[in-house]
Amino acid sequence: MNIIAHFDEIFLKGSNQKHFISKLIKNLEFLFTGIKVSRIESGLWIENFKDTELPRLGLIAGIANFAPAWLVKPDLKEIITLVESQNWGENIKTFRVKAERSDKNFLLTSIELEKEVGSAMNIKFGYKVQLKDPEFNLHINIAKDRAIVFGNTVPGAGGLPTGTAGKVLCLLSGGIDSPIAAYQMMRRGATIELVHFQNQTKVTQEVSQKIIDLAEVLSRYQGKITLHIVPFEHWQKQTVMKVPSDYRMLITRRLMFKISEIIADKVDAKALVTGDSLGQVASQTLENLEVVYSATNMLKLSPLIGANKIDIMNLARKIGTLEISNRPYEDCCSLFVSKHPQTKARQKEIENIERNLDFSQLKDTPYMSYKIGMTKA
Ligand code: ATP
Ligand code: MG
Repeated sequence: MNIIAHFDEIFLKGSNQKHFISKLIKNLEFLFTGIKVSRIESGLWIENFKDTELPRLGLIAGIANFAPAWLVKPDLKEIITLVESQNWGENIKTFRVKAERSDKNFLLTSIELEKEVGSAMNIKFGYKVQLKDPEFNLHINIAKDRAIVFGNTVPGAGGLPTGTAGKVLCLLSGGIDSPIAAYQMMRRGATIELVHFQNQTKVTQEVSQKIIDLAEVLSRYQGKITLHIVPFEHWQKQTVMKVPSDYRMLITRRLMFKISEIIADKVDAKALVTGDSLGQVASQTLENLEVVYSATNMLKLSPLIGANKIDIMNLARKIGTLEISNRPYEDCCSLFVSKHPQTKARQKEIENIERNLDFSQLKDTPYMSYKIGMTKA
């Protein structure tokens, strides 16, 4: 099928538009094999699109809305024949036709065209015209050499095309939140890489598979994703030996930032991204976030900081990470869930505790990097 897709915030980009549009076209052609994308006045024209891929198209950054669409000659008869031959959906009672002409030489005015097509549809399908909030909208865009016809549009993911805002490194746990934080950053145009700190007291195939599966799902919206896995055993041991139990979680998270920053510098990522949401768990009080985030100077972004759990879960269900996140998994952080975690951590105490840790190996922390996900067929 063919699709018409309309831009979201790209429209605000002024003279930069071209760059954003060509990135969006590249992304689409990479993510959906066999399609051909071209620029038309009102947006993008996508040919050879598989209908089974429509839900994924709705999650690609940069598109405000889209719809299956048809191309015919700019001729009233042809338009009516096409419109009459389609099944526009069950249970439609009310409709309206919206015509736009970029070719003002077309024989009818937009209003005349709307009336003609509208009355044909009314006779053929029995729909009633309703100008305000109809159940069905038929759109007709007339250009010099063609007419594009489409029905109701489906909302897209919005935002800016992935790959237009620079690179960020996302801290990916096995939880629900961090994959969504990564997705939100992609939707704002960032290219993401992922880092996971792997719990080593229980290394099974299942453990890393969950993380790989999450990365794979995210790659459906970006293309290939680099995933860095940091074995965390060395640091876990130190933490257990030298950190009082109620501070282990905070110290662990500070260690994650310190190591992430080293990786981010190497891969030229400009910020660290977490799935933190204010107040959701004990490590996410303002006091604790301050202590954790001050572990390094690099910019840290938490796109979910003001999001509610239910909304995060709904988005996770939609992009396909929720089921994977719900698989049982012992994260290295969950090991450190203390009965009385520090909710009012004090910087001084943290500094005292960290004085006992051996950071000499920090810079040389070993990690493995994998390319996950889609390859162009
Ligand atoms: P999530 O659902 O993302 O796990 P959470 O609400 O469980 O978040 P925490 O477990 O405190 O909260 O983790 C906060 C953030 O720290 C995560 O969103 C993630 O960005 C990062 N993080 C936690 N554990 C790990 C890990 N093992 N590897 C990489 N990042 C991690
Ligand atoms: Mg977690």
